[in-house]
Amino acid sequence: GDYNQKIDYVFKVVLIGDSAVGKTQLLARFTRNEFSIDSKATIGVEFQTKTLVIDHKTVKAQIWDTAGQERYRAVTSAYYRGAVGAMLVYDMTKRQSFDHMARWLEELRGHADKNIVIMLIGNKCDLGSLRAVPTEDAQEFAQRENLFFMETSALESTNVETAFFTILTEIYRII
Ligand code: GDP
Ligand code: MG
Repeated sequence: GDYNQKIDYVFKVVLIGDSAVGKTQLLARFTRNEFSIDSKATIGVEFQTKTLVIDHKTVKAQIWDTAGQERYRAVTSAYYRGAVGAMLVYDMTKRQSFDHMARWLEELRGHADKNIVIMLIGNKCDLGSLRAVPTEDAQEFAQRENLFFMETSALESTNVETAFFTILTEIYRII
């Protein structure tokens, strides 16, 4: 949580990807350790914060969640402004959400700073029997595009902290 303490850095990280891939639940899991099955489509651009310590420095992560604007090109440039990190999220049980990663990446690269740290996230790894995206396909895409990559479950809390911690640590490392 956030404490009344000196903040050394504020890092803006944006979540992008198709609707229903689990962006809002990843954010809820990371910032509040919560999850809800019937999460409502997000309304209005919003962000949540979480303060953590990296290398003895206090870092406030300001994580932005899209607001039901997940249609192609509906996310405005204000959303990307000042972002130092981005998580490109797909649902590993929905092939289409992975196939759309290339256009989300193109849109991101069109708006964001060229040094932005990007992580590809295959969410819903708890639904292994319904997997539609092999890990190797995502690894290959991530390698080609120079992205970090992790498979997560917001439901079971798998790799969620690790994913956010990894991207924030990398941002810290390169600033
Ligand atoms: P968003 O539109 O990308 O923000 O997606 P949401 O976070 O609203 O999640 C969409 C639906 O997927 C909701 O019913 C969530 O409960 C569900 N969901 C999100 N993350 C996971 C996960 O890791 N595993 C499973 N099984 N369901 C998830
Ligand atoms: Mg949402």
